[in-house]
Amino acid sequence: MAAKSKYVYYFGDGKADGKADMKNLLGGKGANLAEMTNIKLPVPPGFTITTEVCTYYYAHGKSYPKTLKKDVEAALRKIERSMGMRFGDVKNPLLVSVRSGARASMPGMMDTILNLGLNDETVKGLIAKTKNERFAYDCYRRFVQMYGDVVLGLKPVHKDEIDPFEVIIDEVKEEKGVTLDTELDAEDLKDLVARFKKAIKEKTGHDFPQDPMKQLWGAIGAVFGSWMNDRAIAYRKLYDIPATWGTAVNVQTMVFGNMGEESGTGVAFTRDPASGENVFYGEYLMNAQGEDVVAGTRTPLPIAKLRADDPKMYNQLEKIRKTLEKHYREVMDIEFTMQQDKLYMLQCRVGKRTAFAAIRIAVDMVKEKLISETEALRRIEPHQLNQLLRPVFDSAEKDQAVGNGRLLAKGLNAGPGAATGRVVFNASDAEEWAKKGEQVILTRIETSPEDIRGMDAAVGILTARGGMTSHAALVARQMGKVCVAGCSALEISYVPRTMSVNGQVVREGDWISIDGTTGEVINGKVSTRPSEVLQVLVDKSLDPKDAPIYQTFASVMAWADKYRRLKIRTNADQPDQSLNAVAFGAQGIGLCRTEHMFFGEGKIGPMREMILADTPEGRKAALARLLPLQRKDFEGIFEAMDGRPVTIRTIDPPLHEFLPHDEKSQRALAAQMGISYEKIRQRVDSLHEFNPMLGFRGCRLGIIYPEITEMQARAIFEAAANVKKRGIDVEPEVMIPLVGHVKELEDQEKIVRRVADEVFKASGSKFRYLVGTMIEIPRGALTADEVAKVAEFFSFGTNDLTQTTLGVSRDDAGRFLIPYVEREIYAKDPFEAIDRTGVGELMKIAVEKGRQSRPKIKLGICGEHGGEPSSIEFCHQIGLDYVSCSPFRVPIARLAAARAALADAKPAKVARRRAPKRKRSRTARR
Ligand code: ADP
Ligand code: MG
Ligand code: MG
Repeated sequence: MAAKSKYVYYFGDGKADGKADMKNLLGGKGANLAEMTNIKLPVPPGFTITTEVCTYYYAHGKSYPKTLKKDVEAALRKIERSMGMRFGDVKNPLLVSVRSGARASMPGMMDTILNLGLNDETVKGLIAKTKNERFAYDCYRRFVQMYGDVVLGLKPVHKDEIDPFEVIIDEVKEEKGVTLDTELDAEDLKDLVARFKKAIKEKTGHDFPQDPMKQLWGAIGAVFGSWMNDRAIAYRKLYDIPATWGTAVNVQTMVFGNMGEESGTGVAFTRDPASGENVFYGEYLMNAQGEDVVAGTRTPLPIAKLRADDPKMYNQLEKIRKTLEKHYREVMDIEFTMQQDKLYMLQCRVGKRTAFAAIRIAVDMVKEKLISETEALRRIEPHQLNQLLRPVFDSAEKDQAVGNGRLLAKGLNAGPGAATGRVVFNASDAEEWAKKGEQVILTRIETSPEDIRGMDAAVGILTARGGMTSHAALVARQMGKVCVAGCSALEISYVPRTMSVNGQVVREGDWISIDGTTGEVINGKVSTRPSEVLQVLVDKSLDPKDAPIYQTFASVMAWADKYRRLKIRTNADQPDQSLNAVAFGAQGIGLCRTEHMFFGEGKIGPMREMILADTPEGRKAALARLLPLQRKDFEGIFEAMDGRPVTIRTIDPPLHEFLPHDEKSQRALAAQMGISYEKIRQRVDSLHEFNPMLGFRGCRLGIIYPEITEMQARAIFEAAANVKKRGIDVEPEVMIPLVGHVKELEDQEKIVRRVADEVFKASGSKFRYLVGTMIEIPRGALTADEVAKVAEFFSFGTNDLTQTTLGVSRDDAGRFLIPYVEREIYAKDPFEAIDRTGVGELMKIAVEKGRQSRPKIKLGICGEHGGEPSSIEFCHQIGLDYVSCSPFRVPIARLAAARAALADAKPAKVARRRAPKRKRSRTARR
């Protein structure tokens, strides 16, 4: 390592100081500009000031390292030599853009300045050189506008205030009697420059800087400054991007898409980012510059049109598309500019995509031999599978709605899925309504970075303007939101909050339905139905052959199963839930909560009698009535699981949960049982606990009332024996909850084994079964070596283990836990992702001690964490045998388990040269 940091990295003429894997230092934009330069793509030369300078800037009272000035000047000289132009030259002026670029892409969060280097003198040079006065003044007025906005802070302060420069543009247009910017001629634009400068002088008290070097440093400072603007801070919070990363600054030679009708600018994806289809996908505008394409003010043209209008240009682009995909082995998102007949690349990055697209692209790329199966698995975030399982509209009902004239309009299908909700017209309302539990569709003329929190709160996003690469579409894809963009038929007015189309008026609070897969916007509610995957797997109403999305899903699942080590079980206590889970790939039940069964038809009565009984005899009589009911439940589950292991937990919650708490129901119960209301009330009162979570529950119930455990064990084993007689294999695992001391388990185990022997004898049947425990109390974990002498398996009950380890009651944590996470006391909600250092440490101790006494002990997890990817990774790392989660999370868990195994495997074995890339591409996609 050099003693002195290198702060400035040059790129140009086919050679760059940096490369793609230097994103941390150069930011995503800078690293990829370097990479594209190195692979000989046409990139205008420039240089990148590193993110370290940003960090330095904030650590040193907004000042720069001493050597920076010299380094920037040297790099600028290098550009000048390459271009044969001079910065600030009145005859042949070099113009540059100053662009931000953080490590993770933050679309539109920070600011860009174009055409820097123009002043009253150099603009003449530009005119002389291009013989195009209108063009030159268009560049100049844009520069003054951007500089005024970004560097000098002339921007609207309030939501409903208009941009001061736009006010001036409107003034000039009105004086001229024209409506479009394009109708302004060179003189008008020159006039605009003068008025802009005047406004700057008036509002800031300073002249617009004429010295290009001063302009440059002003712009660099503004980019670093923008790292701490409100939008950027909000965005970072939403995507867990640390403030310490900083942004880089890119200074790059300008090329011009606004140099006439043969010039233009565009954005594209190397494949369709919404569907994942392998087609070139993009939009462009002729005679336009910079953000015009994404701003949503002019509707851009589809890239297919370029193919027809300018095949030569199109072919150049197509070639670059192939080169990029081959080189990066990824779908890339590109920004390009056509300056007369020359094409320039201005940006590329890994393309954001919908879950549909991510999965399809990964699978297609395996088939195209661009990537390996393991690489494909690495690229699909487990939670993305959610989108495939998401509901779609009930097609009959939708057709009917359309037939009845409720189809309001059709826009672009920017974010697949179906959403129904109430219309709100601004982001802060979306946030507020959602907080109140409303389902809202955020409806905007167009969205901007300020809207992200509202977008996050909405179930769907609808915009009237902008293309597939507009802000709304981009962010929706990233968030996995249903989105219809660019629905130009809608006339939206923020005051008085209405949206009208063909005479129909939709007001704030009205229901609409948007189909992000087709782009349809429908008035009123439309019910949704299961996704293709569910229709194939669960409803069995669709043939896999007719279900392309299902097929893609199935490929991913098959690969995941090949690489994962963890088994996946499910938490289910009904036969239909169990069947769903098996359809999703569950290999057993990790937690069957018997108490849920007691709430079922006809069961709560005997259950309450049992609780209210005064004597063991009374309890036994009630239990005898419960036995056949439980047995039947278990038979259904054993049948559904067809030989897979089923872990059944004996009764766990405090008994008062089963009793009615209001007088009316207590009186009804009294009448039903033929006892006095007083008695019932007394009994309920006597069961009251100050802290039920730590009260009379779990194995404590079975120890004080052994007949309960006995009945449950009998129901389990008799059910198993009956099912076995029908030729279906069974593998029951009886799980005793809330064990803190081995003697508690010994007590219960004795009962279970005795009943098992009795049932074996009586039925003449025999099968393997296990008795084990939940580890959900710190003492249980700490004494796991003792507990494991009795327990044949441990299942980590991480909900209770988190409560008891942290000393936090989950149900009472609402008021402080979210602020805790916001203040990073806990990095994540510990009830969502395992607190590895605390709860996780206890788990490790339990695993190690458990194996000491019983090397082959079976280890699993059945807490809520069992379906959460980072917790699954942890379970893999500490060597559990399985995770258990709710049926709908089973596919996610399969993928997460595979990714954990791949992350763990030796890089050389898994993915030869790509191994170190993994971390980066994951952060980049955030
Ligand atoms: P963002 O990070 O918001 O995408 P960029 O730095 O990419 O901002 O700049 C936005 C747009 O400005 C680019 O897409 C491109 O069209 C235009 N632009 C930036 N630099 C140049 C340049 N050197 N020449 C021409 N256009 C440029
Ligand atoms: Mg860009
Ligand atoms: Mg528990």
